Amino acid sequence: MRAAPRILARAEHVVSRADISPNALKVLYRLHEAGYQAFLVGGGVRDLLLGREPKDFDVGTDARPEEVRALFRNCRLIGRRFRLAHVHFGREIIEVATFRGGGPAQAGDARADGDGDADDAAPGDANVYGTLEEDVWRRDFTVNALYYNIGDFSVVDYVGGVEDLRAGVLRLIGDPAARYREDPVRMLRAVRFAAKLGFRLDPGTEAPIAGAAHLLEDIPPARLFEEVLKLFLAGSALPSFEQLRRYGLFARLFPQTEDCLAREEGGFPLTFVARALANTDARVAEGKPVTPVFLFAALLWEPVRRRAAELEAEGAPPLEAMQDAGGEVVSRQIRHVALPRRISLPMREIWQLQTRFAGPPRGKRALRLLSHPRFRAAYDLLVLRAQAGEAVSDLADWWTRFQERPDAQPAPPAAGAEDAAADESDETPRRRRRPRRRGRRGGRRSSAGAVAGGTAGPETE
Ligand code: ATP
Ligand code: MG
Repeated sequence: MRAAPRILARAEHVVSRADISPNALKVLYRLHEAGYQAFLVGGGVRDLLLGREPKDFDVGTDARPEEVRALFRNCRLIGRRFRLAHVHFGREIIEVATFRGGGPAQAGDARADGDGDADDAAPGDANVYGTLEEDVWRRDFTVNALYYNIGDFSVVDYVGGVEDLRAGVLRLIGDPAARYREDPVRMLRAVRFAAKLGFRLDPGTEAPIAGAAHLLEDIPPARLFEEVLKLFLAGSALPSFEQLRRYGLFARLFPQTEDCLAREEGGFPLTFVARALANTDARVAEGKPVTPVFLFAALLWEPVRRRAAELEAEGAPPLEAMQDAGGEVVSRQIRHVALPRRISLPMREIWQLQTRFAGPPRGKRALRLLSHPRFRAAYDLLVLRAQAGEAVSDLADWWTRFQERPDAQPAPPAAGAEDAAADESDETPRRRRRPRRRGRRGGRRSSAGAVAGGTAGPETE
């Protein structure tokens, strides 16, 4: 029924075993020697064909999950609805998926439940195994549906993926609208791959997105959290962000931020988020670490800032306004994209530090802020705010100088720095109870306080 595949012999493509992880090769060879079919699939083949270094290596086989497990001591089966085998080599995991059958439009795609975590997905009999020819149609984009055969080192292409790779086109396999309905996360994947690879979306793949964007509301926030990390921490955050906005997808992930972007204040375009993402990309390019805490703190800063200003206008003290604003913004956000506490708690500390930075910056109090475990991230956020046009340049400069010469006690920033009274309460007798040693503050203690919601006083948070 279906057209014969195009098979590129070893001499006709650039995929080389030298570029495949030795552990992935071990898995492929062992399956092959045991008499099973074994292929490198997905992003691994795509990236190798493009001359890029793959992020991870996935294997496709006709061996059943239990058969895979029998071959590898270091193997765990995961996923309830669709079982996948994870073969562990220290920190590297090679994911082995059995070919799937069941027709192209069956609900619950090969990966619709998200990287093997089947628990959030709708129930159904997803364990319908099939052949390679059937497996192809379950995959999302043609360029993700190429199979490298360890038996003869050829690349198997049923869907025109090789052509699309050459042309730099992302094309969904099958009817795009139906494929998005089946798994709306494919819209995010389309944007992510387009941004990362510099590809364009085929018009048929692009057209249904605006109308289907709302389907993301049905995706479990925990799965969207994973996707957001992949979108924004892999070095192409800025182009991903721009494309997400263009297709109306960003509003489904960060509605409060989108709202702020749509309602510019003070007549200048809001460049804060774009700057933060450009900054993240630059760090990735330099091989520096990037953290989800800073990312989310930046993505949600504008809604938090505006809400805190409202609360202050209603009479709340600055630090309390910031804490309450943070709490409100987070609780609205997690209806869309989950935020584990290990992220939301330090993120809120970073926001609170923005207020505490603006307090009277003198004496030992400023020194203690310097040794706060979130100081660095909070300072980076402050600098970004200044660069994006918020009236905090003097404050940022003050903290820059103070870090260089903490003993020199530079003069406080010029009067009029907003929130100048924010932290007055800090200079109360309570601080006498605090240990004086630098580096002692923060850590577990401050997080524990934040878990409980904290209080307005900086020393009790
Ligand atoms: P990368 O690992 O670089 O992010 P990838 O293409 O390898 O990209 P994975 O999430 O590792 O992406 O998935 C591996 C393969 O599984 C994909 O290439 C694709 O063939 C298939 N796949 C993953 N998610 C889906 C999905 N939601 N719908 C259909 N197929 C999918
Ligand atoms: Mg992959």
